[in-house]
Amino acid sequence: KSDLKPIWCPGCGDYSVVQGIYRALAAIGRAPHEVAFISGIGCSSRIPGYTTAYGFNTVHGRALPIAQGIKLANPDLLVLAAGGDGDGFSIGGGHIAHLIRRNIDITYIVMDNQIYGLTKGQLSPTSQKGRTTCTSPYGSLENPVNPLLYVLAYGAGFVAQASPTDLAGMAATLEEAIRYPGFAFVNVQSPCVTYGEEAQQIKGLKAISESLAAIGHDPADRLAAMDLAQHYGSKMHLGVFYKNPEPPPTYDALIRERQAQLSQGAPPKERILDLFIKK
Ligand code: SF4
Repeated sequence: KSDLKPIWCPGCGDYSVVQGIYRALAAIGRAPHEVAFISGIGCSSRIPGYTTAYGFNTVHGRALPIAQGIKLANPDLLVLAAGGDGDGFSIGGGHIAHLIRRNIDITYIVMDNQIYGLTKGQLSPTSQKGRTTCTSPYGSLENPVNPLLYVLAYGAGFVAQASPTDLAGMAATLEEAIRYPGFAFVNVQSPCVTYGEEAQQIKGLKAISESLAAIGHDPADRLAAMDLAQHYGSKMHLGVFYKNPEPPPTYDALIRERQAQLSQGAPPKERILDLFIKK
Protein backbone atom coordinates (compact mmCIF):
# COMPACT_ATOMS: atom_id res chain seq x y z
CA LYS A 1 0.00 0.00 0.00
CA SER A 2 1.06 3.55 -0.64
CA ASP A 3 1.20 6.08 2.19
CA LEU A 4 -0.65 8.54 -0.06
CA LYS A 5 -4.29 8.92 0.99
CA PRO A 6 -6.84 8.96 -1.87
CA ILE A 7 -8.67 12.23 -2.42
CA TRP A 8 -11.71 10.67 -4.12
CA CYS A 9 -15.17 11.68 -2.86
CA PRO A 10 -16.31 9.62 0.17
CA GLY A 11 -18.10 6.54 -1.18
CA CYS A 12 -16.53 6.64 -4.68
CA GLY A 13 -16.33 3.13 -6.19
CA ASP A 14 -12.66 3.63 -7.02
CA TYR A 15 -11.73 2.97 -3.35
CA SER A 16 -12.86 -0.62 -3.85
CA VAL A 17 -10.86 -0.94 -7.05
CA VAL A 18 -7.64 0.04 -5.32
CA GLN A 19 -8.44 -2.55 -2.61
CA GLY A 20 -9.05 -5.17 -5.29
CA ILE A 21 -5.70 -4.32 -6.90
CA TYR A 22 -3.87 -4.54 -3.53
CA ARG A 23 -5.32 -8.00 -2.96
CA ALA A 24 -4.56 -9.22 -6.50
CA LEU A 25 -0.95 -7.98 -6.39
CA ALA A 26 -0.45 -9.47 -2.92
CA ALA A 27 -1.73 -12.85 -4.16
CA ILE A 28 0.59 -12.70 -7.19
CA GLY A 29 3.51 -11.77 -4.94
CA ARG A 30 5.54 -9.57 -7.30
CA ALA A 31 7.74 -7.02 -5.52
CA PRO A 32 6.74 -3.35 -5.99
CA HIS A 33 9.83 -2.61 -8.13
CA GLU A 34 8.68 -5.31 -10.59
CA VAL A 35 5.34 -3.58 -11.27
CA ALA A 36 4.59 -0.49 -13.39
CA PHE A 37 1.16 1.11 -13.18
CA ILE A 38 0.22 3.57 -15.94
CA SER A 39 -2.86 5.79 -16.19
CA GLY A 40 -4.34 8.62 -18.22
CA ILE A 41 -6.31 11.54 -16.76
CA GLY A 42 -9.47 11.42 -14.65
CA CYS A 43 -10.53 10.63 -11.09
CA SER A 44 -9.70 6.93 -11.56
CA SER A 45 -6.37 7.75 -13.20
CA ARG A 46 -5.05 8.83 -9.80
CA ILE A 47 -4.88 5.15 -8.89
CA PRO A 48 -1.13 4.53 -9.57
CA GLY A 49 -0.34 7.00 -6.79
CA TYR A 50 -2.25 4.87 -4.29
CA THR A 51 -0.40 1.65 -5.01
CA THR A 52 3.22 0.80 -4.29
CA ALA A 53 4.66 0.33 -7.76
CA TYR A 54 6.33 2.43 -10.41
CA GLY A 55 3.56 4.81 -11.47
CA PHE A 56 3.06 7.17 -14.39
CA ASN A 57 0.00 9.44 -14.50
CA THR A 58 0.31 10.35 -18.19
CA VAL A 59 -1.87 12.52 -20.46
CA HIS A 60 -5.52 12.13 -21.33
CA GLY A 61 -6.25 8.92 -23.24
CA ARG A 62 -2.62 7.92 -23.64
CA ALA A 63 -2.16 5.32 -20.89
CA LEU A 64 -2.13 2.40 -23.35
CA PRO A 65 0.60 3.51 -25.80
CA ILE A 66 2.83 4.47 -22.88
CA ALA A 67 2.15 1.16 -21.11
CA GLN A 68 2.97 -0.61 -24.39
CA GLY A 69 6.30 1.23 -24.70
CA ILE A 70 7.22 0.35 -21.13
CA LYS A 71 6.36 -3.33 -21.64
CA LEU A 72 8.40 -3.55 -24.85
CA ALA A 73 11.38 -1.75 -23.28
CA ASN A 74 11.34 -3.98 -20.19
CA PRO A 75 9.29 -7.17 -20.79
CA ASP A 76 10.08 -8.45 -17.30
CA LEU A 77 7.94 -5.73 -15.69
CA LEU A 78 4.36 -6.56 -14.78
CA VAL A 79 2.48 -3.69 -16.46
CA LEU A 80 -0.99 -2.47 -15.48
CA ALA A 81 -2.89 0.36 -17.15
CA ALA A 82 -5.99 2.05 -15.75
CA GLY A 83 -8.38 4.91 -16.40
CA GLY A 84 -11.97 5.90 -16.78
CA ASP A 85 -14.54 5.28 -19.51
CA GLY A 86 -13.97 8.69 -21.12
CA ASP A 87 -10.19 8.36 -21.04
CA GLY A 88 -10.34 4.81 -22.46
CA PHE A 89 -13.23 4.84 -24.93
CA SER A 90 -13.33 8.44 -26.13
CA ILE A 91 -9.99 10.24 -26.02
CA GLY A 92 -7.96 7.02 -26.04
CA GLY A 93 -10.43 4.82 -27.92
CA GLY A 94 -8.21 4.42 -30.97
CA HIS A 95 -5.40 2.78 -29.02
CA ILE A 96 -7.25 -0.25 -27.68
CA ALA A 97 -7.56 -2.09 -30.99
CA HIS A 98 -3.82 -1.91 -31.64
CA LEU A 99 -2.76 -3.27 -28.26
CA ILE A 100 -5.25 -6.11 -28.70
CA ARG A 101 -4.13 -7.05 -32.23
CA ARG A 102 -0.48 -7.05 -31.07
CA ASN A 103 -1.39 -8.96 -27.89
CA ILE A 104 0.68 -6.73 -25.64
CA ASP A 105 0.98 -8.46 -22.28
CA ILE A 106 -0.63 -5.86 -20.02
CA THR A 107 -3.81 -5.68 -17.92
CA TYR A 108 -6.11 -2.75 -18.68
CA ILE A 109 -8.60 -1.81 -15.93
CA VAL A 110 -11.35 0.65 -16.83
CA MET A 111 -13.33 2.22 -14.00
CA ASP A 112 -16.56 2.70 -15.89
CA ASN A 113 -18.97 5.10 -14.17
CA GLN A 114 -20.70 6.38 -17.34
CA ILE A 115 -19.75 10.01 -16.63
CA TYR A 116 -16.79 12.40 -16.62
CA GLY A 117 -16.34 12.87 -12.85
CA LEU A 118 -13.13 14.92 -12.62
CA THR A 119 -14.48 17.68 -14.88
CA LYS A 120 -17.83 17.74 -13.04
CA GLY A 121 -20.33 15.53 -14.77
CA GLN A 122 -20.26 15.70 -18.57
CA LEU A 123 -21.70 13.02 -20.87
CA SER A 124 -19.16 10.21 -21.42
CA PRO A 125 -18.95 7.57 -24.20
CA THR A 126 -20.64 4.97 -21.97
CA SER A 127 -23.47 7.27 -20.72
CA GLN A 128 -26.87 5.78 -21.47
CA LYS A 129 -29.03 7.27 -24.24
CA GLY A 130 -31.39 9.89 -22.79
CA ARG A 131 -28.99 10.70 -19.94
CA THR A 132 -29.30 14.27 -18.69
CA THR A 133 -25.99 15.96 -17.80
CA CYS A 134 -24.55 19.47 -17.93
CA THR A 135 -23.58 18.82 -21.56
CA SER A 136 -26.83 17.04 -22.47
CA PRO A 137 -29.47 19.14 -20.63
CA TYR A 138 -32.31 17.74 -22.79
CA GLY A 139 -31.05 14.16 -22.70
CA SER A 140 -28.36 12.41 -24.73
CA LEU A 141 -29.22 11.48 -28.32
CA GLU A 142 -26.25 9.10 -28.59
CA ASN A 143 -26.04 5.35 -28.11
CA PRO A 144 -23.37 4.36 -25.57
CA VAL A 145 -20.19 2.47 -26.38
CA ASN A 146 -20.38 -1.11 -25.09
CA PRO A 147 -16.85 -1.66 -23.64
CA LEU A 148 -17.24 -5.44 -23.38
CA LEU A 149 -18.38 -5.95 -26.97
CA TYR A 150 -15.78 -3.44 -28.17
CA VAL A 151 -12.82 -5.43 -26.85
CA LEU A 152 -14.36 -8.82 -27.64
CA ALA A 153 -14.93 -7.77 -31.25
CA TYR A 154 -11.26 -6.79 -31.60
CA GLY A 155 -10.24 -10.24 -30.35
CA ALA A 156 -9.00 -9.58 -26.80
CA GLY A 157 -7.86 -12.83 -25.17
CA PHE A 158 -9.18 -12.02 -21.70
CA VAL A 159 -12.34 -9.98 -21.02
CA ALA A 160 -14.01 -9.66 -17.64
CA GLN A 161 -16.27 -7.42 -15.60
CA ALA A 162 -16.14 -6.65 -11.87
CA SER A 163 -17.89 -4.39 -9.39
CA PRO A 164 -17.45 -2.98 -5.88
CA THR A 165 -20.66 -4.90 -5.05
CA ASP A 166 -18.40 -7.99 -4.85
CA LEU A 167 -14.90 -7.05 -3.65
CA ALA A 168 -13.66 -10.64 -3.23
CA GLY A 169 -14.87 -11.46 -6.75
CA MET A 170 -13.21 -8.32 -8.12
CA ALA A 171 -9.85 -9.20 -6.51
CA ALA A 172 -10.05 -12.75 -7.92
CA THR A 173 -10.95 -11.44 -11.40
CA LEU A 174 -8.10 -8.90 -11.34
CA GLU A 175 -5.66 -11.60 -10.25
CA GLU A 176 -6.78 -13.88 -13.09
CA ALA A 177 -6.48 -11.00 -15.58
CA ILE A 178 -2.96 -10.13 -14.42
CA ARG A 179 -1.89 -13.78 -14.66
CA TYR A 180 -3.26 -14.08 -18.24
CA PRO A 181 -0.33 -14.06 -20.71
CA GLY A 182 -1.48 -11.33 -23.11
CA PHE A 183 -3.79 -8.32 -23.31
CA ALA A 184 -6.39 -8.58 -20.54
CA PHE A 185 -9.30 -6.19 -20.07
CA VAL A 186 -11.38 -5.72 -16.91
CA ASN A 187 -14.36 -3.35 -16.95
CA VAL A 188 -15.19 -2.29 -13.40
CA GLN A 189 -18.61 -0.77 -12.85
CA SER A 190 -17.38 1.78 -10.32
CA PRO A 191 -20.07 4.19 -9.07
CA CYS A 192 -19.52 7.95 -9.18
CA VAL A 193 -21.43 8.99 -6.05
CA THR A 194 -21.26 12.69 -6.94
CA TYR A 195 -22.38 12.80 -10.59
CA GLY A 196 -23.57 9.23 -11.28
CA GLU A 197 -27.19 8.23 -11.73
CA GLU A 198 -29.16 6.50 -8.96
CA ALA A 199 -29.28 3.26 -10.97
CA GLN A 200 -25.48 3.20 -11.13
CA GLN A 201 -24.97 3.36 -7.36
CA ILE A 202 -24.28 0.22 -5.29
CA LYS A 203 -27.97 -0.52 -4.63
CA GLY A 204 -28.91 -0.19 -8.30
CA LEU A 205 -25.92 -2.22 -9.47
CA LYS A 206 -26.69 -5.02 -6.98
CA ALA A 207 -30.20 -5.24 -8.40
CA ILE A 208 -28.92 -6.00 -11.92
CA SER A 209 -25.84 -8.07 -11.05
CA GLU A 210 -25.47 -11.71 -11.99
CA SER A 211 -22.43 -13.96 -11.62
CA LEU A 212 -21.29 -15.53 -14.90
CA ALA A 213 -20.06 -18.60 -12.99
CA ALA A 214 -23.46 -19.01 -11.31
CA ILE A 215 -25.29 -19.12 -14.65
CA GLY A 216 -22.84 -21.73 -15.96
CA HIS A 217 -21.13 -19.56 -18.58
CA ASP A 218 -18.09 -21.21 -20.19
CA PRO A 219 -15.34 -18.54 -20.48
CA ALA A 220 -13.78 -20.46 -23.40
CA ASP A 221 -16.92 -19.77 -25.51
CA ARG A 222 -16.30 -16.46 -27.26
CA LEU A 223 -19.65 -16.32 -29.07
CA ALA A 224 -21.54 -16.93 -25.83
CA ALA A 225 -19.45 -14.15 -24.26
CA MET A 226 -20.46 -11.76 -27.05
CA ASP A 227 -24.09 -12.72 -26.59
CA LEU A 228 -23.94 -12.00 -22.84
CA ALA A 229 -21.98 -8.78 -23.38
CA GLN A 230 -24.95 -7.35 -25.29
CA HIS A 231 -26.73 -6.96 -21.94
CA TYR A 232 -24.28 -4.22 -20.90
CA GLY A 233 -26.32 -1.37 -19.42
CA SER A 234 -29.32 -3.48 -18.40
CA LYS A 235 -27.65 -6.46 -16.71
CA MET A 236 -24.32 -6.46 -14.87
CA HIS A 237 -22.64 -9.81 -15.46
CA LEU A 238 -19.68 -10.32 -13.14
CA GLY A 239 -16.68 -12.54 -13.75
CA VAL A 240 -14.82 -13.72 -16.84
CA PHE A 241 -16.68 -13.33 -20.15
CA TYR A 242 -13.87 -14.74 -22.26
CA LYS A 243 -10.48 -16.32 -21.66
CA ASN A 244 -8.65 -17.72 -24.65
CA PRO A 245 -7.81 -21.33 -23.68
CA GLU A 246 -4.84 -21.25 -26.06
CA PRO A 247 -3.28 -17.79 -25.71
CA PRO A 248 -1.26 -16.77 -28.79
CA PRO A 249 2.34 -15.52 -28.34
CA THR A 250 2.65 -12.03 -26.91
CA TYR A 251 4.17 -9.24 -28.99
CA ASP A 252 7.21 -8.90 -26.76
CA ALA A 253 7.91 -12.65 -27.13
CA LEU A 254 7.67 -12.30 -30.94
CA ILE A 255 10.01 -9.31 -30.90
CA ARG A 256 12.60 -11.25 -28.91
CA GLU A 257 12.27 -14.18 -31.31
CA ARG A 258 12.77 -11.86 -34.30
CA GLN A 259 15.80 -10.26 -32.68
CA ALA A 260 17.33 -13.69 -32.12
CA GLN A 261 16.70 -14.67 -35.78
CA LEU A 262 18.19 -11.45 -37.11
CA SER A 263 21.26 -11.76 -34.94
CA GLN A 264 22.04 -15.07 -36.65
CA GLY A 265 20.99 -14.30 -40.21
CA ALA A 266 21.93 -11.74 -42.88
CA PRO A 267 22.47 -8.17 -41.63
CA PRO A 268 19.05 -6.46 -41.40
CA LYS A 269 20.28 -3.58 -43.59
CA GLU A 270 20.81 -5.90 -46.57
CA ARG A 271 17.38 -7.45 -46.13
CA ILE A 272 15.71 -4.06 -46.10
CA LEU A 273 17.60 -3.02 -49.26
CA ASP A 274 16.47 -6.24 -50.97
CA LEU A 275 12.86 -5.19 -50.44
CA PHE A 276 13.37 -1.89 -52.27
CA ILE A 277 15.64 -2.92 -55.14
CA LYS A 278 13.70 -4.63 -57.88
CA LYS A 279 15.69 -7.34 -59.56
FE1 SF4 B 1 -15.37 9.36 -7.64
FE2 SF4 B 1 -17.20 10.76 -8.98
FE3 SF4 B 1 -15.96 11.86 -6.91
FE4 SF4 B 1 -14.64 11.42 -9.15
S1 SF4 B 1 -16.35 12.84 -8.89
S2 SF4 B 1 -13.90 10.98 -7.07
S3 SF4 B 1 -15.57 9.49 -9.89
S4 SF4 B 1 -17.32 10.08 -6.86
